[in-house]
Amino acid sequence: MEPEIVSKEKEVVSKNFIEQIIEKDLAEGAYDKICTRFPPEPNGYLHIGHAKSILLNYGLSQEYNGQFNLRFDDTNPTKEKVEFVESIEADVRWLGADWEDRLFFASDYFDQMYEAAIKLIKKGKAYVCDLTADQIREYRGTLTEPGKDSPYRNRSVEENLDLFERMKNGEFEDGTRVLRAKIDMASPNINMRDPVIYRVAHMEHHRTGSKWCIYPMYDFAHPIEDAIEGVTHSICTLEFEDHRPLYDWVVRELEYPHPPKQIEFAKLYLTNVVTGKRYIKKLVEEGIVDGWDDPRLVSIAALRRRGFTPESIRKFVELCGVSKANSSVDYAMLEYCIREDLKLKKPRMMAVLDPVKLVIDNYPEGEIEYLDAPNNLENESLGSRKIPFGKELYIEREDFMEIPPRKYFRMFPGNEVRLMNAYLVTCTGFEKDENGNITVVHCTYDPQTRGGNAPDGRKVKGTIHWVCAEKALKAECRLYENIIDEEKGVYNEDGSLNLNPNSLTVLKDCYVESNFAGAEAYDSFQFVRNGFFCVDSHDSRPDALVFNRIVSLKSSFKLPK
Ligand code: ATP
Ligand code: MG
Repeated sequence: MEPEIVSKEKEVVSKNFIEQIIEKDLAEGAYDKICTRFPPEPNGYLHIGHAKSILLNYGLSQEYNGQFNLRFDDTNPTKEKVEFVESIEADVRWLGADWEDRLFFASDYFDQMYEAAIKLIKKGKAYVCDLTADQIREYRGTLTEPGKDSPYRNRSVEENLDLFERMKNGEFEDGTRVLRAKIDMASPNINMRDPVIYRVAHMEHHRTGSKWCIYPMYDFAHPIEDAIEGVTHSICTLEFEDHRPLYDWVVRELEYPHPPKQIEFAKLYLTNVVTGKRYIKKLVEEGIVDGWDDPRLVSIAALRRRGFTPESIRKFVELCGVSKANSSVDYAMLEYCIREDLKLKKPRMMAVLDPVKLVIDNYPEGEIEYLDAPNNLENESLGSRKIPFGKELYIEREDFMEIPPRKYFRMFPGNEVRLMNAYLVTCTGFEKDENGNITVVHCTYDPQTRGGNAPDGRKVKGTIHWVCAEKALKAECRLYENIIDEEKGVYNEDGSLNLNPNSLTVLKDCYVESNFAGAEAYDSFQFVRNGFFCVDSHDSRPDALVFNRIVSLKSSFKLPK
């Protein structure tokens, strides 16, 4: 076979199923240009699952030189708020999805939806029904039994038009009358058994105020919104698969010239974290977490606060791919993506999280010198910086042991180690308090080893990091674990979430090198050996820095093939 053909075939195979549908539609001339949309309901903050939807829709619009709409699906005023509209816009923008001037609100189409309902009534395809919600349910039948026609199903067009207008005019109480599509009470698909398309609800809407007291149902409103905007591919998640016949019915009966088509894909689920808006809300409302952007959550605001970058989330979504089968992605893959993104971009700095003092007994009292430290060993272009060094330092408590186990190459009495970017020092002793805790470690340095190497070439196996006690800044560091321990089950027997009690550890007495002065919210760094950290946007102050650990440095995670 010719090599070119092989590669062409490969290219086709690597397209996901949505790209294949779009390419076919474009080739057949079904649409001149594609248009996708992200249609959030402004009833909460966006999460990583929404990020997938945003990046998928935006990505397709870019790939096929089409358009991308951000549309607030605000047809249900009970739970919707302006606060959420603002946060959603900020999150979508942060992810890099640019809707340009294509920002829409479903509530702007209420007049057109009302007209659409009238069109259906006039065609004999919709009727006002006086059954109660319970009766409607009863009449609907089950998966195995067909439904029964409503006694109001054969009202005349005139009567329906009159009643529907009076519904709009506020003559009826909530729940007393609805408008239903007249489709087929015997359909095997329950969604097609004369679904409710308008209900009476005397409620204020955050954009239309009290103009309306009837509101369209999602399955009626959504296809109309898509059609009005010229959306071509209306991409949603799998639970809407059974609603597609209704979507198609609505756009067909309303006779839109280039009707949009609905395509479903599997939701993104992550192991060990809570993704659903409902659960996140519960954690927030019960005060289990510190708001919608608590760094343990996977709302987009939380990921941003934790220190994730848009690039890392884009990479993650790309690796997840698009599929028709529900599955959970390992949280470690998200961590892999942020680690890969930060590795070459961020400086590696000195920070001691669990400090013990180290005194260099033969170092001149009161002297401070400035040593060179490369900012990133794997990326020379980040340059180097000067770090202060003096007689008293802080090192990690775990870097000293009175009685070392085998293969421990760090500080213990008599051992020589390298202080990173500084000198070789030999441990000479230590002090303890009355409880047996080590309070000070003593050592001597070899002035000939500035920079960390001995002129005689002698080898030392251990290298430890440190900060200069006199110049260091005090900081708080917050370490995180997954909020749910999935191995023990997501739920407890009583149905509550099985929370990990260790999901947050606060270390209040950390010391970081003086070069952190001026670090601002969202700045991130590698802390030698301890991971990547980000300045907390809520609580950090110039004189009291607070860092969130984004991710540790190592993982056993391997990219799936
Ligand atoms: P949740 O299930 O968290 O309550 P939702 O589906 O109610 O979210 P919407 O505001 O209705 O939230 O969703 C906006 C868009 O995001 C929809 O097109 C929806 O299909 C998509 N979406 C929601 N959750 C996920 C997910 N986990 N993975 C991929 N797409 C998602
Ligand atoms: Mg929803």
